Amino acid sequence: MAKEKPVILTCAQPTGQLHLGNYLGAIKNWAALLDDYQCYFGIVDLHAITTPYVPAELRKNTLTCLAQYIACGLDPAKCRIFVQSHVIGHTELAWVLGCLTPMGQLQRMTQFKDKARGKESGSIGAGLLYYPVLMAADILLYNADLVPVGDDQKQHLELTRDIAAKFNNTYSPTFKVPEPYKHGSGGRVMSLQDPTKKMSKSDANESGVLFLLDPPNILRKKIMSAVTDTGKEIVAREDKPGISNLLDIMSAVTDRSAGDLEKEFVGQGYATFKTAVADAVIAHLEPIREKCNALMEDKETLNKVLQEGASDAQRRANRTLSKVYRKAGFMERPTLER
Ligand code: ATP
Ligand code: MG
Repeated sequence: MAKEKPVILTCAQPTGQLHLGNYLGAIKNWAALLDDYQCYFGIVDLHAITTPYVPAELRKNTLTCLAQYIACGLDPAKCRIFVQSHVIGHTELAWVLGCLTPMGQLQRMTQFKDKARGKESGSIGAGLLYYPVLMAADILLYNADLVPVGDDQKQHLELTRDIAAKFNNTYSPTFKVPEPYKHGSGGRVMSLQDPTKKMSKSDANESGVLFLLDPPNILRKKIMSAVTDTGKEIVAREDKPGISNLLDIMSAVTDRSAGDLEKEFVGQGYATFKTAVADAVIAHLEPIREKCNALMEDKETLNKVLQEGASDAQRRANRTLSKVYRKAGFMERPTLER
């Protein structure tokens, strides 16, 4: 029998709109994995309620996130895309794992400290502290071999590895200890308004962020008013973060090297260069936006993808959860009538 392909699990919260950084630094790379791995993409709505949010927006963002994933190349015929709250097992496993996790380790997580800073402990939900345990459950529920994580999530993956090892030692070998997966390409896309900061969904200054669903005139406006550097040359250099960022963006969307682009724009002004960057970004994002808008009109297809994704994810989750419950000493569940 052919060897099973390794399992890759990637989760992202359905908060806000996706931007060019999410696409070039994450989703585009995930799409390249579909043939070689069994890929599970979780839209983790349970995580999205750890900080204040608006329920109706969460529901809408969850569906838009799915449509954008598909439009960006995550072909549902080749992977499973599921919504976390549709699969029974994430929170159940998190409870068991939470009972093995030292409180102090959670309190030392950088992201918790960052998000809790300056707030009264009475106003911080316990979910924010518990978030990394739920993330460990997301990964271990699918017995993932590899997990692509950004820098900000590395510490949480380390915790997942610790918890997996602790469960295996306390009960008996059950979980694979997952490895981080490093993408070969796709650097950081920086904000157009402050090229020393990464482009980010949560940036209050939206003019520095190119959203995937921005219409062409907005994309053009944002790129034309991007902060540039002193001097006139169009070169990628440390003292020219604004131009370097635009060159990187243009290089990524045209598949041409930055060096090649530098040669093309020798002696040309910033305005000509920015117009070319805007044309290239618009041409690249146009089909994605159109596909996403068409999908948003086709709820039947979106629901079918979620239905199939959840069924497949649930089958895999059930296998792990029943094993864990048995090892933890819980009695077998009686069959209930529904
Ligand atoms: P937030 O501001 O809410 O943290 P974000 O813009 O950082 O949002 P995330 O949802 O945290 O987006 O990240 C989703 C994925 O996109 C991660 O894999 C992350 O590493 C990647 N990513 C986010 N921003 C960029 C960027 N500017 N350049 C490249 N990759 C990015
Ligand atoms: Mg982030």
